[in-house]
Amino acid sequence: MHLEDMLAYNKRFVEGKEYEKYLTDSIPNKRMVIFTCMESRLVELLHRALNIQNGDVKMVKNAGAIIRKPFDSIMKSILVAIFELQADEVVVIGHHDCGMSRVDTTALKSKMMEKGIHESTIQTIEHAGIDFEEEFHGFDTVEESVQQSVNLIRKHPLLPPHVKVHGLVIDPHTGKLDIVQKDS
Ligand SMILES: [Zn+2]
Repeated sequence: MHLEDMLAYNKRFVEGKEYEKYLTDSIPNKRMVIFTCMESRLVELLHRALNIQNGDVKMVKNAGAIIRKPFDSIMKSILVAIFELQADEVVVIGHHDCGMSRVDTTALKSKMMEKGIHESTIQTIEHAGIDFEEEFHGFDTVEESVQQSVNLIRKHPLLPPHVKVHGLVIDPHTGKLDIVQKDS
């Protein structure tokens, strides 16, 4: 278990007051909220490649940087960042070689069953109206997916008109950003 190593490290971190250089408040200095993928290759790379320091931005993540529903937890987080935390710029950042571009919901169900989820549980969930394809499907191209998320945020009825919404794609190897949509 890696948690034990983390807890031991954490004790030394706090005792050594290593937190002091990260002290800041909860209002993002850049007044920005970034919505990106949970991709582990981006954990440090994205911050370094964009020169983001502690306290600079609100960061929201999920698998694939996908928003498809106007009141899911991601959109609510973005709205809270805007109304409660003074963000006025939203940046959606997808990435090349994203695992969500390859999700096959039939294969996903097989993987669930291999790891001990009973087929009847999946059937019960489906009978209750949860569509696995709709809930777990990924995307064909990351650019299209980013554009779709950007459009949903832009057209959201609760998005104030002054808020800028941009879409980018990052290379998870080099950190290079490409623009999908830049708000003027
Ligand atoms: Zn990803």
